[in-house]
Formats: sequence, C-alpha cells, structure tokens
Amino acid sequence: MSGFEPSGRAVDEILADAAAGRRISAGDAHRLLLDGDLLELGSAAQAVRDRHNDPAVATYNIDRNINYTNVCIYKCRFCAFYRPPGDPEGYLVPFEEIGRKIEETLALNGTGILLQGGVHPDLPLSYYLDLLAFIRERYPTIHRHAFSPPEVKFLAKKERMSFHEVIGRLKEAGLMSIPGGGAEILSDEIRREVLAYPKASPEEWIDVMRQAHRHGLRTTATMMFGMGEGLAARVEHLQRVRDLQDETGGFTAFIAWTFQHEHTDLPGLPEVFAHEYLTTLAVARLFLDNVQHLQASWVTQGKKIGQLGLAFGADDLGSIMIEENVVAAAGAHHKMSQEEMEHLIRAAGYEPRQRTNLYERLVTREETAELALRYRHALTPETRALAAGALLPVVS
Ligand code: SF4
Repeated sequence: MSGFEPSGRAVDEILADAAAGRRISAGDAHRLLLDGDLLELGSAAQAVRDRHNDPAVATYNIDRNINYTNVCIYKCRFCAFYRPPGDPEGYLVPFEEIGRKIEETLALNGTGILLQGGVHPDLPLSYYLDLLAFIRERYPTIHRHAFSPPEVKFLAKKERMSFHEVIGRLKEAGLMSIPGGGAEILSDEIRREVLAYPKASPEEWIDVMRQAHRHGLRTTATMMFGMGEGLAARVEHLQRVRDLQDETGGFTAFIAWTFQHEHTDLPGLPEVFAHEYLTTLAVARLFLDNVQHLQASWVTQGKKIGQLGLAFGADDLGSIMIEENVVAAAGAHHKMSQEEMEHLIRAAGYEPRQRTNLYERLVTREETAELALRYRHALTPETRALAAGALLPVVS
C-alpha cells in the first residue's frame, strides 16, 4: 500500500472537513498526527463523536477476559504473556474453571466474556466447539466474544479449512462476535520486525474479519501502537480498517492502546505518553468516519488519561476488567468496580451507561440483578472487592 505520506493540506482545512463529516484522506490523517494541535484535534474529534453517538452519554461494559491458555507457538516480540509449548508455566484452563469465572462475571452484573488465548498447537477445532457449546449450555445469556484472527488462522491451517468454514463452525457452536486482537499494526514491515507476521499478515487479519462479517458476526478493530513503527504505518492501519468497514460495516468499535514494554523482547523502546496517545485517539476518530464507537484505553493509560479520552473522541471506556492477563504481563495492572467506572464517567461530564458487548443497547441493573444474586457465592475475596454495591439491584 502507498499514499500514507503527509498531505500538503492545511491542518485547519482538514479539521474543518472532518468535523463537518467530509471524509479525510490517509495523507490528511498523517498531516494531523504530525502537525495537529492537541486541543484542536480533540475539539474536532468531539464533533465527530457527537454525530455518531449520544452527546450526553458515555458507555462501558462488564465482561471478563478469560485467557484459556497462555501456550503459544508464536513469539511476538512485544508479548510478555505467552509460554512456548512444553514450558512448565504453560497452562490450559479447565472448562469447570472457565465456568466458575463466568459465574463470577455474572455476580458482578457482567453480560459477556472475551475468550482469547495464545495459539496452542495441540488444540483441534473440536476443542473450541466443545468449549463454546459448554458455555452456551450452562450460561445461555452470557455473550461469547471469542477467538481473534490468529487463532482462527491457525485453526484453518490445522484443519485444512477456509477462514469462512472455521468461523461458520464456531458460530454454529455459539460464537457471537470476534475480538480484534492480534492486529497491532497492520503494516508489513513492522509486523515482520516484531515477529507478528507469521501469526497473521495484515491481509489475513483483515480477511478473517471480512469472513466473520459475511457470517453476520460483528467484530471489533484494534490497534496497538508504539512498537517503533512510523506514523505512516499507523495511518496504513487506519486505512485498512476503514476500507473493510466500507465493504462490510461489521466493526462495532475501534480500540487503540499503547505498547507496554515490561518483560517483552522490546524493552528499550521509548514509552508512548499521554500527548501522543490522545493525539492518535483523536485522529482515529476523525479518520474513521464509518465506525460508530471509539473506546479509550484506561487499562493501558491509567484511569486519569483513560477518562480524558472521553474528551478526545472516545464515547466508551470498555470493560471494568474483572480479569486481564495479557497487558498485565507487560506491566499494566488496572481494575475498577462498576461504581468507580460510573463515577469516573460522571466526573467527565457524561451520563454513564452499561452496554452490551455489541453496543446494540443499554443494560439496566434490574436485568443483571437476578443472576448477580444467584452467582454471588462464586466471588473470591479479590472479586468481592470489585463488587461493592454491585450486587444490589439498584434502580438506574
Ligand atoms: S501476542 Fe498472541 S500470538 Fe503473539 S506470542 Fe503473544 S499470545 Fe502468541
């Protein structure tokens, strides 16, 4: 791909176009990343955010990341989470334990789970089908958001099936949407450099999402930046996401976060600080005129910068994070209760609302209260701390 160099247009002109709903080019986005004033970018991004979403409301969800295995055949250099096959620290979470984690999620008013692993070489497609069927049968109301493109790609290769066939089988077994993990930066050179290319090339990542959308499954799009890639690579990433969204309309949201370097094979890279994070968030909002939701990453930025993301184009703060292992392995440890999430959103000037995984509607406390009470026993001392007040059927 080419055409990712900065355009010659004036920043004011580009911002006026984007804020008014006129599409800007990849070159324009690059120009904004280089020369845009942070507060002006934020103001224009808010105009776009308010056109797509209720200006008075900011949303969040309650789901749980369940990393069913940390065993992985790949060795992405930015990853502190994986263990190679045979490593004594490798694990595979038993189904019963996954069930217990789901019960804890329900006890915290949760509505979904995000299942994602390393890419375990020994697990056949039947393992994934059995896992989805187990969850659907035991916990029919929980949303099953699972298996990112690298897992789908590996299964397709292992089972000699197409991406479309694999996703079709997973959907039949209970898959409801696909997370955008494994995208990092969708640009050849940097993916090769950080050893992410083998798990999915940019074209493969996009094609898994395309096939999911053809099956009627919604997915998210993500971007992890700050691995030493240039701005042109970030712009290329945004262009690929926007192009597929033009084609299918299947992305619910775009979620960008910054590389966390601790315990990775890239320890010397300069950290991405708040200014660059918020600039990138705002430019993504301005460029992705066809994606309704933009999530701010409080998990990697911390609660304070995450909250500020709501003033730079984001309309959503993602999950309260009952459990998170992948970025935690690289040094970012953050959790919050539902009450804290709502306080944080309210303090930013918005009405907080819990949403479903698909963003298709708002969730009331009344509707989660019954299961929260039924599974109250599943809480551990750690998750009980997150539950303060969350167990009571509160009138919203
Ligand atoms: S990022 Fe994913 S695919 Fe890469 S090594 Fe880590 S677990 Fe494996």
